[in-house]
Amino acid sequence: MKNVGAPSQFTCTGCAACKAICPTNAIDYSKTEDGFFEASVDSTKCVDCGKCQTVCYKYISIEQMGRSIFQGTAISAKSSDAQCIQGCTSGGIAHEIAKWGIENQYWVAGTVYDYQTNLAKMEVARTFEEIEEFRGSKYLQSKSDEAMIDLLDIAKKHPEQKIMVFGVPCQILGVKRLFETSNLKNELLLVDLFCHGVPSYLTWNAYLKERGFETLKRVDFRSKKMPWHFFAIELQDDRQKTDLLPSAQNSFYKVFFDNVGLHRSCSDCQVRKGTSSADIRLGDYWGKKYKNDFEGVSACVAVTEKGNAILQTLSESGKITILDKETVDDIAKAQSVEDYPSSCQEKTQQYFKVLKDTKKLKVASRSYSLSSKIYMKELAKKWISYLPLAIQIAIRKI
Ligand SMILES: Cc1cc2nc3c(=O)[nH]c(=O)nc-3n(C[C@H](O)[C@H](O)[C@H](O)COP(=O)(O)OP(=O)(O)OC[C@H]3O[C@@H](n4cnc5c(N)ncnc54)[C@H](O)[C@@H]3O)c2cc1C
Ligand code: SF4
Ligand code: SF4
Repeated sequence: MKNVGAPSQFTCTGCAACKAICPTNAIDYSKTEDGFFEASVDSTKCVDCGKCQTVCYKYISIEQMGRSIFQGTAISAKSSDAQCIQGCTSGGIAHEIAKWGIENQYWVAGTVYDYQTNLAKMEVARTFEEIEEFRGSKYLQSKSDEAMIDLLDIAKKHPEQKIMVFGVPCQILGVKRLFETSNLKNELLLVDLFCHGVPSYLTWNAYLKERGFETLKRVDFRSKKMPWHFFAIELQDDRQKTDLLPSAQNSFYKVFFDNVGLHRSCSDCQVRKGTSSADIRLGDYWGKKYKNDFEGVSACVAVTEKGNAILQTLSESGKITILDKETVDDIAKAQSVEDYPSSCQEKTQQYFKVLKDTKKLKVASRSYSLSSKIYMKELAKKWISYLPLAIQIAIRKI
């Protein structure tokens, strides 16, 4: 068997590169019962040509997955436009790169929130208006099958078209392999993100139900109505009902930060750990250095020379402000670059079982055990989060 149903030590990430390359449409890309998109092979359509395996993360060596980010050049930076930072997750560098892309005739792929289906979805944008929707992390698995097919189609029909893609590392690896194995020569600029893993749609839908939202008009996973460290989710429906809940009171983020309920591919993900097939890796600048910056600071690693040149161009043109030169080691210390312990998988199984049985996120998020020390810390954070915002900020500064 030469298709992606063949055994591998790794798990499908749901990048959808195989679906885009399959000549007989034999790849089914749909949600599992745990609420993640994964690929499976329809054996009645598969002709065993092997093309899907050539693009797939599961069948390549770590060396084929990209370069070590630890060889890259690191900076801390933020957009020079304070309004831009307000609508972005951390320092707004992703949005400044996307704007530069449109100005320089790239078509740009990134993730929007689709309010019709309540899914995060990768889409291809050609205008400044369209890239606005990419701003802000949607902490969900981004459905990328249609965008992968679009990207391949665009590249084949328009070999001169420049293409820029933003995504989590497994998606970007999928794009890179799709272009390389199809021998496409389009100029490609790839940007991936430091990645903690992706939460499930089961968790997200249970969260919306818990907060009393059936339809959404707007969601912001990192609302800047509170400082960016607070991870506050802001929801709004079409009847102007709104909800703003920081992570300390929020079951969705509790599960996420406990490394529970993530996609099974995320626990031993090789690309999360510091291998990148992108030109630039971006993240939030965590750690002590900017703990008193309440707007947002981006951690940027130029993995290639091309990536470095773009960050320099943005700095020289005044679009971004470089705060300092950094080391990748310092940035990575505060990131999820280790395998998650096997206990997370056990807790995840327990969590999904309870979530499916009860449909209640609060119950499921308490169903797996935490050490008493972590529990006390969570409890303290929760109590503090009910204090007035100014007092919370003062406590954080201590
Ligand atoms: C699932 C997930 C996990 C993450 N984990 C970490 C982490 O552990 N540590 C860390 O420092 N940073 C993490 N990030 C990245 C971080 O949240 C910011 O996206 C990053 O710092 C860029 O911020 P910005 O202000 O420059 O970007 P913004 O201008 O806010 O742009 C956000 C960018 O992310 C892309 N994007 C949004 N949602 C998704 C999605 N679901 N899948 C793929 N791409 C998406 C958009 O296309 C856009 O390019 C994660 C992001 C996601 C989506
Ligand atoms: S990892 Fe990507 S290419 Fe491999 S089977 Fe899954 S969706 Fe397909
Ligand atoms: S942790 Fe790895 S497998 Fe999971 S979404 Fe991030 S890059 Fe993909």
